[in-house]
Amino acid sequence: MSGTGTDRVVPGADTRGGEPAPAARVEVLPARDVPLGGPRAMTVRRTLPQRARTLIGAWCFIDHFGPDDVAETGGMDVAPHPHIGLQTVSWLFSGEIEHRDSLGSHALVRPGELNLMTGGRGISHTEVSTPDTTSLHGVQLWVALPDEHRHTGRDFRSHAPSPVRLDGAVVRVFLGSLAGATSPVPSFTPLLGAEIVLRPRASTTLAVDPGFEHGLLVDQGDIGVAGTVLRPAELGYLAPGATTVTLTNETDTAARAVLLGGTPFGEDIVMWWNFVGRSHEDIAEARLDWEAASDRFGRVDGYPGARIPAPALPNATLAPRGNPTHPKGTR
Ligand code: MN
Repeated sequence: MSGTGTDRVVPGADTRGGEPAPAARVEVLPARDVPLGGPRAMTVRRTLPQRARTLIGAWCFIDHFGPDDVAETGGMDVAPHPHIGLQTVSWLFSGEIEHRDSLGSHALVRPGELNLMTGGRGISHTEVSTPDTTSLHGVQLWVALPDEHRHTGRDFRSHAPSPVRLDGAVVRVFLGSLAGATSPVPSFTPLLGAEIVLRPRASTTLAVDPGFEHGLLVDQGDIGVAGTVLRPAELGYLAPGATTVTLTNETDTAARAVLLGGTPFGEDIVMWWNFVGRSHEDIAEARLDWEAASDRFGRVDGYPGARIPAPALPNATLAPRGNPTHPKGTR
């Protein structure tokens, strides 16, 4: 939400009484406001990608929105548009979105339900908040597909995880494993995606895979992790190595966050518009295919409007991006 563009990198807890500071450090990634476009532009808070970080595991895109009064913002209305080389994850806290895609899927995205769409070689879809929606609140995330699977076929699936009730928290695991729960939805690389709601002033310690890097996106409340307090809309990055993550709600009301994780992706990607590829040529070809209404992306039925044209490519060649080896202020 801040839009200040400053990366606040906060070290772990201060040394006290001569004890060494914990090794865990949190890199705080602020959000920037981005209009989604369309006739009634809804604004989202984007924390990934940004200059300091391209990926967390295979997670390559994090948009966080709401709670928006739909009567005021017009809600979400995204006309047919294409994707390649990625999966989209929709996860809502409130409201409802109607999803249609070129597989023929027609689904309602509801709070507490994972909707996972695999773009692979090419898919197109629409996303429209339903007329009954008064408040729209949630996240949309992208997962980069590894090179060996990035041309896979289109897919769409839903899953409503059972809540796991812990002492101070309720956890919903939509991808991967956490708090003794495992999502049945497969992924192409090892991933974690979970919603965590913390009771007022509560703490919870969760075992995590030490091979994973993690990102904690705070939705509401101030949440302490590894000596840093993250505020709403901030994304805290945790490097691999930790076997547990302890989250503390520093406020007197419930706090909510989304914990994302995965093994470091290890491939440089080119992200442009709605495409994830490996080269400028991948992107330019997908753009031409979309502009030519190629079968590659199929057709979305049931949307009462025109498709979104691709923007012009930049004059410069699109360069692959990994994560900076030495993010500013760390190591
Ligand atoms: Mn999309």
